[in-house]
Amino acid sequence: MSAPISATASAAPTASAHESGRRQILVTSALPYANGQIHIGHMVEYIQTDIWVRALRMHGHEVYYVGADDTHGTPIMLRAEKEGITPKQLIERVWKEHKRDFDSFGISFDNYYSTDAEENRVLCNSIYTSLQAAGLIEARDIEQAYDPVKEMFLPDRFIKGECPKCGAKDQYGDNCEVCGSTYQPTELINPYSVVSGATPIRKTSTHYFFKLSDPRCEQFLRGWVSGLAQPEATNKMREWLGDEGEAKLADWDISRDAPYFGFEIPGAPGKYFYVWVDAPVGYYASFKNLADRAGIDFDAWIAPGSKAEQYHFIGKDILYFHTLFWPAMLEFSGHRTPTNVFAHGFLTVDGAKMSKSRGTFITAQSVIDTGLNPEWLRYYFAAKLNSTMEDIDLNLDDFQARVNSDLVGKYVNIASRAAGFLIKRFDGRVQDSAMHHPLLGQLRAAISQIAAFYESREYGRALRTTMELADAVNAYVDTAKPWEQAKDPANAVALHETCSVSLEAFRLLSLALKPVLPKLIESVESFLGIAPLVWADAAKPLSSENAINAYKHLTTRVDPKQIEALLAANRESLAPAAETATATAAAAPAKTVAKKQDDAGVISIDDFAKVDLRIAKIVDCKAVEGSDKLLQLTLDVGEEKTRNVFSGIKSAYQPQDLIGKLTVMVVNLAPRKMKFGLSEGMVLAASAADEKAEPGLYILEPHGGAKPGMRVK
Ligand SMILES: [Zn+2]
Repeated sequence: MSAPISATASAAPTASAHESGRRQILVTSALPYANGQIHIGHMVEYIQTDIWVRALRMHGHEVYYVGADDTHGTPIMLRAEKEGITPKQLIERVWKEHKRDFDSFGISFDNYYSTDAEENRVLCNSIYTSLQAAGLIEARDIEQAYDPVKEMFLPDRFIKGECPKCGAKDQYGDNCEVCGSTYQPTELINPYSVVSGATPIRKTSTHYFFKLSDPRCEQFLRGWVSGLAQPEATNKMREWLGDEGEAKLADWDISRDAPYFGFEIPGAPGKYFYVWVDAPVGYYASFKNLADRAGIDFDAWIAPGSKAEQYHFIGKDILYFHTLFWPAMLEFSGHRTPTNVFAHGFLTVDGAKMSKSRGTFITAQSVIDTGLNPEWLRYYFAAKLNSTMEDIDLNLDDFQARVNSDLVGKYVNIASRAAGFLIKRFDGRVQDSAMHHPLLGQLRAAISQIAAFYESREYGRALRTTMELADAVNAYVDTAKPWEQAKDPANAVALHETCSVSLEAFRLLSLALKPVLPKLIESVESFLGIAPLVWADAAKPLSSENAINAYKHLTTRVDPKQIEALLAANRESLAPAAETATATAAAAPAKTVAKKQDDAGVISIDDFAKVDLRIAKIVDCKAVEGSDKLLQLTLDVGEEKTRNVFSGIKSAYQPQDLIGKLTVMVVNLAPRKMKFGLSEGMVLAASAADEKAEPGLYILEPHGGAKPGMRVK
C-alpha cells in the first residue's frame, strides 16, 4: 500500500525502536504428559504463550515457538501395558490428539515434537556426560519400595495402603485424601502395590544424583535468580536457596531402574534418566529438529553468551524444575541459560477447581465438538491474564457477556455499520483525507502501548485499552449518525468521511486484537484487502487505491445453549464414574454417542479398531454394598489376572445368574477409580433408546465355542 504517512503516524516510537534491532527469540510452553487429554486448564498456558509469540513476531523478530509431548516414565509404561499396546504406540496416538487440539486453538508452534526422539537422546547423553566431567554426578545406593511380583521399583504414587493417621483405606503413599496428612510411603499400614496388589518390599539399588548441593551450583543459582522477571518467583527461589552458607539445596535423584520407558543412561546399563531430566532437554530437541530442517544455526542459539533470547512459559507448580535444575544443568554442561521463566497461575471455573461431576473439567476436544469458537476462549483468557502467578477464573456467565458485548457489540459492529455504505455509495474506497482524523491519531498512538502491554504479558491491560478505543469509535459513529447522513445526497462527503474513519479505526482495532484472535483477523485482512497486519502497519492507513471486499459476517454471539452443551458433554463423558458405573452400553453416554453420529456421520475402520473388544468369562459376580445400580464382576479375559468391573446392571440380573457366563468386554478403556474401587473395563449390554418407556437391559453373550480373551471385531 502506498498511503500518505499522516502526521500522527510517527507516534509509535517503541515499535519502531524494536524493529531496528531484530531479536532472536526461542520460546517454549511446558510439555504436556502423553497419557491424557488436553483440557482448558492446560490451554491457558498455550494461549498465553501463543499470544506472546504472535505479538513478538509482529515486530518482525526471529521467533521460534517449540513444544513436544512429554512421553517417558512409569505411568506411560503401565498405561500402554494395560491397553495391550507398546508405549510408542500409545505416545503416537496421544501426540496426534494433542496436535489436533493445539491446531484447533490456533497455537502456532513452529515445531511440535516428542521427548522420545533421537535428538533428545543425543542431547541428554551429552549434557549428562558434561555434568559427569564437571564432577557433578554421583552414584549412591538407596533403599526403595519394590514390587516383588511385577519386579519393579515403585514410585510413591504406585503404593497405596491405610492412612497412618486416620486409617482411611486406599490412600496414596505420599498423602491422605481423607484427612489431608502427609507422610512417607513406608508409614502406610498394610501397603500394597497398585500395579500387582503385592506387598512392597525394601530393596537397594544404585542411583545417580545431580549434585545440586555443590557450592558451584548454589553460587550460580544465587546469581541467576536476580534476573527473574516475577517477584513471586524470585521469592520462592530465595526460600529454596536459603541464606548464604545454609546449604539448603539437596542433590537430585536423576536415575530410575528398569523396567522404565525412557533413555538408558550412558555407561549405566539398566539405569534410565528420570523423566524430569529429559523433559526440559526436550525443548532443545524440538528446536534442534526444527533447526536442522529450517537451516537455523542451533549451536549458536544454545552456546554460552548467545545473543539469542530463551523464554520458558510454565505453570507455577513446576517452577522448581525450571528455576533450579534446568538452569544448573545448562550452566554446568556448557550451554547458555534461560533468559527468563514466566510462570502463570491455575484456572478455576465459576470460582471453583475444575470438577468432573459438575462438567467443568472441560477438554479441548469438547470445546471443538460443541462448536464453540476457540478464539472466544482465547479472548476471555487474555482479558483475565497478567504477568503474575495469580489464578484466573473462567466465569461462564461473564464469558458469554464479555464475548458478546466486546467482540460482537463493540468491535465487529463497527465494520458492519461502515462497510455497507462504503461499498454501495463509494465503490468500496475510503476518502484519503479522512485518514488524518484526530480520532485515528489517538488510535495509532495507542498501538505501540498495546504492543508493549503484550510483551510485558499484561494482556488484560492490552484488551482494556483496545475496548476503550472501541468505545470511542462507537461514540464517534453515534454522533456522526451515518444512517442520517445517508438520507440526503448533499451529505455525501460527510458520509464518506464517517465511513472511512470508522473503517480505518476498525483496521487499527484489528491490529490491536491480532495476537489474541489470529483467525478472525485473517478474515478481516481479506475483507479489507490488505496484507497480514504487523505493528508497523499502524502508520499505513487504508487508501483509496484499493477497494475493500464485500462485508461478510465475521463472528457470531455465544449461544447459551452451547455452554449448556459443553457442560453436558463433559459431565456425560464422566457419568459412568459418578454413579451408573463403567458398565453397559445402556448406562454409557447415549446422548454423546447420538450427537457424535449426527456430527460426523460415520467412523472409519481405524476408529473402530481402537476399541479392543474381548470375550470375557464372568468368574464371579456380587452385589455392591451401598449401591442400588451396580454389580461387581470378576472377569477372565485370558490374561494372567482377572479384571474387576463395576456394571450398572443390578436392575436386570441376579448375581448368581451371571456366574460362569460369557460376555463381551471393552478391555482398553482407561481404568476408573470409583467410590467402591477400581473398575478396569466395561461389559456391553443392549437397551431401548427410551429406557423409561421400555425398561430392560440385556448383556451380550457369544455363541458356543467362544473362549475368554478372543478378540471381537
Ligand atoms: Zn488420613
